[in-house]
Amino acid sequence: MTSRQPIDEPSLDPELVEVDMHLVPPTQPVTGIVTSNEICLRGKSASFVRHVCVDVSGTPLQGAFHAGQSFGIVPPGLTEHGKPHKVRLYSIASPTVGEDGEGRILSTTCKRLIDEHSPQASSEEATRGLHLGVCSNYVCDLAPGDEIRITGPAGKRFVLPKAPERHDFLFLATGTGIAPFRGMVKDLLEGPDGPCKSDIHLVMGAPYTSDLLYDGFFRETADRHPNFHYHTVISREFLPDGRPQGYIHHYLDREIRLHGDLLTRDRALVYICGLAGMQTGVFQAMAKLGIGGPYLKVHEELAGVAPEDWELADIKRRVRPTHRCMLEVY
Ligand SMILES: Cc1cc2nc3c(=O)[nH]c(=O)nc-3n(C[C@H](O)[C@H](O)[C@H](O)COP(=O)(O)OP(=O)(O)OC[C@H]3O[C@@H](n4cnc5c(N)ncnc54)[C@H](O)[C@@H]3O)c2cc1C
Repeated sequence: MTSRQPIDEPSLDPELVEVDMHLVPPTQPVTGIVTSNEICLRGKSASFVRHVCVDVSGTPLQGAFHAGQSFGIVPPGLTEHGKPHKVRLYSIASPTVGEDGEGRILSTTCKRLIDEHSPQASSEEATRGLHLGVCSNYVCDLAPGDEIRITGPAGKRFVLPKAPERHDFLFLATGTGIAPFRGMVKDLLEGPDGPCKSDIHLVMGAPYTSDLLYDGFFRETADRHPNFHYHTVISREFLPDGRPQGYIHHYLDREIRLHGDLLTRDRALVYICGLAGMQTGVFQAMAKLGIGGPYLKVHEELAGVAPEDWELADIKRRVRPTHRCMLEVY
């Protein structure tokens, strides 16, 4: 666990907290004990997402994980080919001190993968059944007291800077991409050194209001801390004037006065987490609004092309986040 550094001079490049990684390798998982497993959606929703807490006491993970990192879960049983299941990664939703304040209990935000089965390879036949994700459904079914095989921690780039007071933050989340931001917001505002005074904006995208995750926590935190701003973008609901709310990048476009001011500050950092592909619209919106410079490295082949004309393949290959833009999509 790290303590904050004093502010001396402004810094553009974030020096990220140093973290431990792979203390428990995927080949040798250790055992944690589930302490709670609760729905964390705002209302009745078509998706199923649970906040799951795991006691890692006595394992190398105790006191050794940071908000923003992930940990691994190895589901029990064998694959259809008779091999042990591979490890799946889950973002840590707890603050660096854990849910218990002593680094013993970490948590995650697990969404059940449920879909109509569709062939994944040309050799596979179509069936009319459901595809139920192996690990996510296993985790969502766990009860307090159950054992779970875990690994990690993983990831060193999607973490907070050592000196958060030197920066302002724009956090962009879709779905379970909110998990690391729950931990980070707690680190920033409820940490042992007192609340960080930086501007912190969290934008959460969801299809319906009922799909918002940890909504009560973020609203209460925004009420208590005037420097923390919680914005929701509900893609299948409408603005008061009847226009659709759209996705996060539409929101950035619409609220450019707010976020333009934030993003043009030398001290601002952008963190993006959630559904694979969400960065596409965000990168395009930032470039289109002329505020992408410090956050995006655009290959010269794209330099003369208007961002709205960038093709998906171009963005994937020729637009990279800089050290001031942290990206975790899956
Ligand atoms: C860094 C990182 C962090 C993550 N954090 C989180 C998190 O915080 N919360 C969370 O919920 N998830 C998170 N994930 C995703 C998580 O690791 C798992 O991928 C997810 O839970 C699904 O795993 P599963 O075992 O349930 O699904 P699996 O059983 O592995 O099923 C998924 C696979 O099934 C196949 N499939 C998908 N749809 C169909 C279909 N309709 N028909 C047939 N086959 C299909 C695909 O090949 C797909 O890869 C994260 C991933 C990464 C990489």
